[in-house]
Amino acid sequence: MAPETPGTETQALSNLLQESRRFAPPADLASSANVTSAAYDEAAADRLGFWERAADRLTWAKRWDTTLEWNPPFAKWFTGGQLNIAYNCVDRHVEAGRGDKVAYYWEGEPEGDSRTLTYADLQREVNKAANALTELGVAKGDRVAIYMPMIPELPIAMLACARIGAIHSVVFGGFSASALKSRIDDADAKLVITADGGYRRGAPSALKPTVDEAVAECPQIEHVLVVRRTNQEISTYDRDVFWADIVERQSDQHTAEPHEAEDPLFILYTSGTTGKPKGILHTSGGYLTQTSWTHNAVFDLKPDTDIYWCTADIGWVTGHSYIVYGPLANGATSVIYEGTPDTPHRGRFWEIVQKYKVTILYTAPTAIRTFMKWGDDIPAKFDMSSLRILGSVGEPINPEAYVWYREHIGASRTPVVDTWWQTETGAIMISPLPGVTSGKPGAAMTPLPGIVADVVDDQGHSVPNGGGGYLAIREPWPSMLRTIWGDDQRYIETYWSRFEGMYFAGDGAKRDEDGDIWLLGRVDDVMLVSGHNISTTEVESALVSHPKVAEAAVVGATDPVTGQAIVSFVILRGTAEEGADIATELRNHVAKTLGPIAKPRQILVVPELPKTRSGKIMRRLLRDVAENRSVGDVTTLADSTVMNLIAEKLPSAK
Ligand code: ATP
Ligand code: MG
Repeated sequence: MAPETPGTETQALSNLLQESRRFAPPADLASSANVTSAAYDEAAADRLGFWERAADRLTWAKRWDTTLEWNPPFAKWFTGGQLNIAYNCVDRHVEAGRGDKVAYYWEGEPEGDSRTLTYADLQREVNKAANALTELGVAKGDRVAIYMPMIPELPIAMLACARIGAIHSVVFGGFSASALKSRIDDADAKLVITADGGYRRGAPSALKPTVDEAVAECPQIEHVLVVRRTNQEISTYDRDVFWADIVERQSDQHTAEPHEAEDPLFILYTSGTTGKPKGILHTSGGYLTQTSWTHNAVFDLKPDTDIYWCTADIGWVTGHSYIVYGPLANGATSVIYEGTPDTPHRGRFWEIVQKYKVTILYTAPTAIRTFMKWGDDIPAKFDMSSLRILGSVGEPINPEAYVWYREHIGASRTPVVDTWWQTETGAIMISPLPGVTSGKPGAAMTPLPGIVADVVDDQGHSVPNGGGGYLAIREPWPSMLRTIWGDDQRYIETYWSRFEGMYFAGDGAKRDEDGDIWLLGRVDDVMLVSGHNISTTEVESALVSHPKVAEAAVVGATDPVTGQAIVSFVILRGTAEEGADIATELRNHVAKTLGPIAKPRQILVVPELPKTRSGKIMRRLLRDVAENRSVGDVTTLADSTVMNLIAEKLPSAK
């Protein structure tokens, strides 16, 4: 039952965007695809049987007794089953004679600085690290905070924790000391693994001083394990131990004990786009089942021939599930890149694609829009003919960005898979399948086989085709979060109280006339203009479809006439001029594309937009600016000076 608060009853989301472009799968991809349309039928006929077969792709020390124990909203998957996650990700490939296969091509930011790790190398390194953790007193169930740059020791540290049953909590290396401290405290970690620094934007960027500052106030931390990456000068303390001292002298043999399917694997804090980050708890068997199945299906991974590159930071869930656990469980060869896309030049990503002959690329809309802004001529200089599948994650992808990605990166050949999921879902939930689905620019399309997602109205009823509302998930899934660490009550309230018996994702969505799903941004961001609920995503996509616009963010600001009025913040493309008429031109463009109801009251040309450190636009801060309030919590903002630049542009803002 939906809570009924008088006055909050709202209309369904208005469907404004029309998009008629369609891209069918290439014939050769369709005919050799790992997963065909039969998977949807199999899962619909027997959902639990479908997930059992997916779990059978893993190696279990003991097979499970019960596939799903569901005491809403608490799920247990594959109970009675035992497995070791690190064994599944590493050892079993070596035992199968694939030890010489490359697990990771690692590319440091300084050019020429690279390392190759085979599965056999990875096994030795993980074993040594597991032995070192044991020597440092870390045991099963203990929490380990990891605050590292994108270097091979990061996945090695995660796998070493998984191997011994310790619970890792990776904290993105760009976070401040106070953010790190609050995450260490929340999880009550006893060890921090870090590095002296990492390379970012052409220079060593320090990490250790931030750890020192955080740990000074964390008496529960017994040791800080430090990798030397940049050889920067750092302060050392009694609690510090160096990777080169303790890990390197360990035996490279280690016996992987099996763990229970429901033993915790990791805690990961959400990126904080909408509020205080939540410590999301993931467990073992179900998580690895769904990350590995989806990685195989959505990217059509051929482990013998594909070179796969996910550009996310491992500090975010995308990196956990699609750089570390999913790809390794599948025996994939992946690229890991340490640095930023513009170092030493704006073609660095494409140079890496060319160098390693990357076949599958998985990145975020924020990056794609940046590349659009930098210009088509940059990717055009590189040979990217190896690419066969492109993926997107993190935000709704604007149709124009999708088409640009397909055309300029994928040579108009490659399918684009727009994958919707969250830290909480652990793995991809809604996405095209590249050999099955005719993609529509901007749509995440359909729930994957075995996933029961829906678009519902305020009362929790499914909306018909053509309708809009809230994204909800009707049945538990293997990689779902089990709770918020230490806070079952917040887990229940945040996700399971909006609609009876359904998971509330917090995202707005619509179902088009074909029944396909489009994500429309955060429910918190939806605007109510003259009685119409209008999605931020649709207005932003309309703005981005104008040739002069590279990026856009829109918010609803209180308006005496319309209730809320649309205020837009836009970044222009490289060559576009900020003329006096640009605002009129863009307002008319939106009116023409979406209808007069969506015409922004104000358009402000800005140099930057406020983004989280994972690259998502933080609209709540723009709403503060548009409504003349002092700006709220900016701790997860990548660059806090951005807000001042924006405030200067708003005539009415002080
Ligand atoms: P917080 O919950 O603390 O505000 P967050 O939601 O930004 O942080 P994540 O779990 O990293 O943290 O992000 C998940 C969200 O990202 C989804 O709820 C959705 O809003 C957005 N998202 C991710 N992928 C897509 C996609 N393909 N299409 C549309 N939205 C997406
Ligand atoms: Mg979220």
